[in-house]
Amino acid sequence: MTLPPLFDSHLHTPLCNHATGHPREYAQAALDAGLAGLCFTDHMPMPAWYDAGWRMRLGQLAEYVDTVRGVQAEFAGRLDVRLGLEADFHPGTERFVERLLAAHDWDYVIGSVHYIGAWGFDNPEYVAEYGERDLGGIYRHYAALVEGAARTGLFDAIGHLDLPKKFGHRDPDGSALRRVLDVVAGLDLALDFNTAGWRKPVAEAYPAPELVREAAARGIPFVLGSDAHAPGEVGFRFGDALAQIAAAGGRVVTYAGRVRRE
Ligand SMILES: [Zn+2]
Ligand SMILES: [Zn+2]
Repeated sequence: MTLPPLFDSHLHTPLCNHATGHPREYAQAALDAGLAGLCFTDHMPMPAWYDAGWRMRLGQLAEYVDTVRGVQAEFAGRLDVRLGLEADFHPGTERFVERLLAAHDWDYVIGSVHYIGAWGFDNPEYVAEYGERDLGGIYRHYAALVEGAARTGLFDAIGHLDLPKKFGHRDPDGSALRRVLDVVAGLDLALDFNTAGWRKPVAEAYPAPELVREAAARGIPFVLGSDAHAPGEVGFRFGDALAQIAAAGGRVVTYAGRVRRE
């Protein structure tokens, strides 16, 4: 199947300490895959006490920006290379994030929730915690955090909406995340259609097909992202992603200069 010109808008770099390959190799992979462009969205620096091992340090932010700008120049005219961030929403860090987002001209900022309290729930090391809690409660708590993320006004899109399903712990009910979709729609945010879920135990993209339909029905657009942590993952299963979004009656957008492009 021939795909329309697409962007991969969720990509990492080795600065986050858990990705491999120079950003140049990600760009080359995008070109090889026939993509029109890509937007790097590495894990942003956060206050030193928060999840420090899994992201660039504040002192590396300039290096990140310079590296992406370098790749942008290198691929000019061949590939549209954009500069973004995957930001974390964690209550109490909003002012830090706000300051950092004001420090550079970002094209696109994803707001993601990776922690419920002190529990890094998407970390395979702490997966046993799912057995210690009520699953419905996990999703309600998580959904409240995602709603908080949406309401900050700091982000363009919500990252991997139903992330707690990563290891197979699906939402037993679904109503909490459906309510989040009402908030996301009301605030005119987008959703990260994240194909990394197809590489995880749950073997399903984020969000789940039912949530994709619910989002599309509310007019929420999708931003395609592979969440690549290696060049070989760039554009991962975008054909399947498009098919799923089209089947739901949804639409795909990108962001440049933090402005939505249809
Ligand atoms: Zn990562
Ligand atoms: Zn993430």
